[in-house]
Amino acid sequence: MQNDYTQMWTDLGLDLQAHDQLLEVLGQGYEQVFMSQANRPEGMAYFDFVMSEVHGLRIKELMDAKAEGRKVVGSFCVFVPEEIVLAVDGILVGLCTGADFATEEVDKILPRNTCALIKSAFGFKLGKVCPYLESADLIVGENTCDGKKKSYETLAGLVPALYVMDLPQTKSLRARELMQAEMKRFFHKMEEISGVTIDAARLKKGIQLVTEKRKALHRLNELRKNDPAPISGLDALLINQVQFYDDPVRFTASLNKLCDELETRVAEGKGAFAKGTPRVMVSGCPMAVPNWKLPMIIESTGAVIVGEESCVGERGTRNLVSDGEESLDELMEALVDRYFKIDCAIFTPNPERLDHVKEMTGRYNAQGVIHYSLQFCQPYQTESIPLEKSLENEKIKTLRLETDYSQEDIEQLRTRVEAFVEMIA
Ligand code: SF4
Ligand code: SF4
Repeated sequence: MQNDYTQMWTDLGLDLQAHDQLLEVLGQGYEQVFMSQANRPEGMAYFDFVMSEVHGLRIKELMDAKAEGRKVVGSFCVFVPEEIVLAVDGILVGLCTGADFATEEVDKILPRNTCALIKSAFGFKLGKVCPYLESADLIVGENTCDGKKKSYETLAGLVPALYVMDLPQTKSLRARELMQAEMKRFFHKMEEISGVTIDAARLKKGIQLVTEKRKALHRLNELRKNDPAPISGLDALLINQVQFYDDPVRFTASLNKLCDELETRVAEGKGAFAKGTPRVMVSGCPMAVPNWKLPMIIESTGAVIVGEESCVGERGTRNLVSDGEESLDELMEALVDRYFKIDCAIFTPNPERLDHVKEMTGRYNAQGVIHYSLQFCQPYQTESIPLEKSLENEKIKTLRLETDYSQEDIEQLRTRVEAFVEMIA
């Protein structure tokens, strides 16, 4: 029998009626999109369980941790270093921004032409339906795209504690100095809110935990190179989404166990889809829970997604912090180096991302790339045009799509994806 979390949700100040509705829609969507898939690995049961308890058991764990004096930090971006949060025994959670909520309220305080991801963050706050947002001791924003950095000025009035990281927009030496200074500022902020002094041993442990998690994700990616693909793109995306709020040690162990199973599948020539299924890669804006629309369309047209060039995917996890550093200064420098490599489209120029998409296409043996932009996302929309040209120059077929979180364009998207998959097959 499921536990009753009503008291916990009430204590967090959630709107219980709206929250029930959200959970119902989420549960139905999950059944339709994930549980209907054929040939799922058994190890996905763990991730199904995490999802079924996403507002229950995991929140209870956060509340228990808080009762022990540990801090919960919420973030919207992969630039926020989990290593430093773990170094003070804190917990970093990604804040879901993958569904429309309280849209009328949101439209009163944000321009209509704001991307769905930003609107979603506000909708979950205004609708009082996100227990992660409500349990966070600190919410970290970042000066990335214009939409985000300006909207944080408004968010500051809605949440008790918002901290904004100032991020560089170029990869110059001066920009690296800003990143370095901001990492230090965040380091001290975490010390201040937790009362913990970070020494080299603490930071090293935080780095090790996150590195193990990233290595497990690399292992999963490596297995997806095979034909037949041992796991669907939808399930791989889910794993990438779950890593933002699950306990890192438990997540890593569960993912490694799943990878053991996938290795056996590969050895036996078994897959989630038949051998020879058209292989596509998805590149572009991050897909946060429960944004599963486009992958669901792609995989229902008879293609398999074999990689995600996204912050909820390889862009967010591919780089590791260099090994072998010992002193606190060296460890911090290694962290700065690692985070400075992230090739988000807010950087200008940003050739690394184009190179990465091409390299991934070859590595995963993808027959085409579907570029996904959210409407009104200038950085990714603008970058998608040179990206498409550059891929087409290499004879890599590309489809550029723009969408939002509504369901209205599903058939239109399906028609375009079907035509694309037919062309690359
Ligand atoms: S796309 Fe850019 S702004 Fe968005 S999460 Fe990734 S790094 Fe952060
Ligand atoms: S999707 Fe684009 S516009 Fe929206 S928050 Fe991310 S970078 Fe900014």
